[in-house]
Amino acid sequence: MAKRPLSRRDFLERAALIGVASAGVGLLGACTSGGGGALTCTDTTGLAPADVQMRETLQYVDASPEANKNCLNCQLYTPAAEGECGGCTVVKGPIHPLGYCTSWAEKVS
Ligand code: SF4
Repeated sequence: MAKRPLSRRDFLERAALIGVASAGVGLLGACTSGGGGALTCTDTTGLAPADVQMRETLQYVDASPEANKNCLNCQLYTPAAEGECGGCTVVKGPIHPLGYCTSWAEKVS
């Protein structure tokens, strides 16, 4: 069977599929819930070295060691959908809702 040339439409459809698949892989790498359902937000793949350094300098951790202080009640937290890592205006990369860093600031809303 002769192979027909790739049409513009075929190309765009395939490019869109690859883009969706790549985005899915990227999200899984940045924030995973694993098989047991435990959310992990420690993958810094794709972050600039300075951003990784900032996470370390501010001692970001997925599980807050401070009673009553976590990312969820921090003013700088950007929530995500239930069961997914959120974000932060100071600490780049995936952020666990129950995480913590030394820049914690009480949420005022
Ligand atoms: Fe969490 Fe720190 Fe960002 Fe606050 S500043 S949301 S405690 S990582």
